[in-house]
Amino acid sequence: DKVLVSGANGFVATWVVRRFLEKGYAVRGTVRSADKGKFLEDLFQQYGERFEVVVVEDITKARILFEGAFDEAVKGVDAIAHTASPFYLNAVSHDELIGPAVNGTVGILRSAVKSGQNVKRIDVTSSCASVSEVGVDKVFSELDWNDLAVRDVWEQGDNAPGLSKYCASKTLAEKAAWEFYEKSRSDIKWDLSVLNPPFVFGPAIHDIKNPDALNTSARMWYETVLVDGKSKDFLTVQGLAYADVRDVAEAHVLALEKEAAGGERIIISAGESLYPAFPRLNTNRSLRFLLDVANALSPSPIPSHPSLPVGYPGVPWKAPVEYDTSKGARILGLKYRTKEELTRDTLADFEKRGW
Ligand code: NDP
Repeated sequence: DKVLVSGANGFVATWVVRRFLEKGYAVRGTVRSADKGKFLEDLFQQYGERFEVVVVEDITKARILFEGAFDEAVKGVDAIAHTASPFYLNAVSHDELIGPAVNGTVGILRSAVKSGQNVKRIDVTSSCASVSEVGVDKVFSELDWNDLAVRDVWEQGDNAPGLSKYCASKTLAEKAAWEFYEKSRSDIKWDLSVLNPPFVFGPAIHDIKNPDALNTSARMWYETVLVDGKSKDFLTVQGLAYADVRDVAEAHVLALEKEAAGGERIIISAGESLYPAFPRLNTNRSLRFLLDVANALSPSPIPSHPSLPVGYPGVPWKAPVEYDTSKGARILGLKYRTKEELTRDTLADFEKRGW
């Protein structure tokens, strides 16, 4: 079977592509420029003709009636994993995120209706950003939507916080996907599956020359764990459950393979408790736990990472976020890597790069 992966050069997507190839699928990856494609062709050279790249310059082209950005790219594929979407927290205008997120998502579904005759399943990478509302203290599940972020942007426009702009882009894109899917059901042979991971961390295999080029979440990890003091804000940001990027990649494969994933949105969160005896102090809820895990590793990473900070005493906690991950366990049966494995492998990756 052949899978189309959009935004194939991203942090998450490169692992998604790799996992599909490892499991024997053929993959067509979309990128925005030929040079980004060249890196991937080199990276996946061993898979020969099972991997190919196509350039889709502007994923928002779906605005134009009857012409979709992915019309050509979807031809001949059996499934689609749509990951391309802007992820940064310092957007100036809300439309720079919401436009590509919504139009890119609806656009690829529309192209699948129009020219994806063989498509049987589409999975869309949404996010916990479209599930949990900042400041709300409860266990969130797939029944929840982050309408608060959308309201922030609705009320404050471009003055809304950057996090709200990003969360609104993911919420609106996912809602638009479900709406389009429901409306198209009588005309289509595929079904939709949506994955909602929280912050995704782990080693990187995409094209990054220096820490500044890391994607938003891996850079937060880097700054929290390895750059003393720079990221105190991140330590207290609410909603910081996590998943290992390799587990998120596996979830993408399972979401296409498991019949029961059709028509479902599924939270993908490792979500272990570091202090199970004191759930209210579960440090998974802030990035502080990452530092604790790194410091507790044996053997110690200190010789190879001499600047590893020992902690941030006095950093205040904010409201917790917890996710109910039972649906993912039931439908996908995904096994999560431990936070020790995530931490050790990420440190090893950065060490290899000399960071
Ligand atoms: P990256 O920034 O590494 O990758 C984003 C991908 O989307 C890149 O291929 C990028 O292309 C593409 N993209 C971004 N903006 C546009 C645009 N306007 N038009 C076309 N393509 C675009 O991010 P991640 O790998 O972290 O994120 C991948 C997906 O996972 C996103 O949908 C994100 O919302 C979601 N996600 C990520 C989480 C995380 O913690 N990392 C958590 C939950 C969800 P280019 O390289 O050319 O810019």
